[in-house]
Amino acid sequence: MTRITVDEARALWLRGDDAELKELAQVARARYHEPDRATYMVMRIINYTNVCVAQCDYCAFYVLPNQDGGYVLSREDVFAKIDGLLEAGGDLVGFNGGFNPKLPLDYYCDLFASVRARYGDRVEFYALTIAEFVYLADRADLSFAEAAARLRDAGVHWVTGGGSEILTEDFRKRHAKFKYTVADYFEAQRAIVEAGLRTTATMVIGFDEALEERLEHLKRTRDFQDETGGLFSFLCWTYKPYGTAFGGREISPQEYRRWIALSRIFLDNVKHVRTSVLTQNEDAFRALDYGADDFDLPIEDEVTQKAGATIELDLDALLAVPRSLGYTVEYRRAERPTALTA
Ligand code: SF4
Repeated sequence: MTRITVDEARALWLRGDDAELKELAQVARARYHEPDRATYMVMRIINYTNVCVAQCDYCAFYVLPNQDGGYVLSREDVFAKIDGLLEAGGDLVGFNGGFNPKLPLDYYCDLFASVRARYGDRVEFYALTIAEFVYLADRADLSFAEAAARLRDAGVHWVTGGGSEILTEDFRKRHAKFKYTVADYFEAQRAIVEAGLRTTATMVIGFDEALEERLEHLKRTRDFQDETGGLFSFLCWTYKPYGTAFGGREISPQEYRRWIALSRIFLDNVKHVRTSVLTQNEDAFRALDYGADDFDLPIEDEVTQKAGATIELDLDALLAVPRSLGYTVEYRRAERPTALTA
């Protein structure tokens, strides 16, 4: 199977039926994975603060610094949430919050160092999203390389590629003009890779993005992976519109599966394509037939829950679904970066 171009991806999306996308995605998936095997993690997103100045119009989570209802979790609150995750059988935390002007980079380095000191390698964590990393480096007046080194020294292994949504400059101008540019995003992610940390690619679909914007996002992601090889995985999830300023409607599970398939076919240099149980619930597992090989079982994420996501906490019942589709599912622990194992 040879690499497809953007023109070929567009044609496949517009003219390929579900069966064709599914078949091609399964061929692409088989390059890296056994056909009937999938992996998963149990994770908790800890939303340490909801105060944010970015004002993305698709977000139902944030409050501005002087508005009522803002919070910052205490260290004890964070530890209690991690203890709860361990009790639920999970070992992956995703720290994700707002751009809070009162929390400098030092606050995060202290927090991450304390988590590493208390839990060691029993828990792995995605320290920040690239979006938060850009904001914090900027506020600290540090280069991305300097900020990445500070995180690494605090025991951080992963900075996930969250906050990307749709990586076109026009999308950001329409919906998140205070966030950062696409150029900033990739420059920051490159610094993360060069610092020896691990990172991921993400994408959110279902706003008002044009097909050309989705394709540009995939192309930029594939190009970045060609240049750096730093992306562990690609996770796509769907926009939840409830309670947001932008509003809108959810896309169908069928459209989601088709996009997972096209992503798997196009991103021939990314090993793991992850399906989103957080936003697709049980429908997410059908994407395993469309090229996905891995998924999270989340037990909390206030950001998407505020916008309408619902979380099923009966993990055995959830795991029964991919098994009923013929998959053997195995727990996967987050990998420690090779550069930091010496
Ligand atoms: S999506 Fe993130 S950066 Fe944007 S307003 Fe919400 S919390 Fe802030």
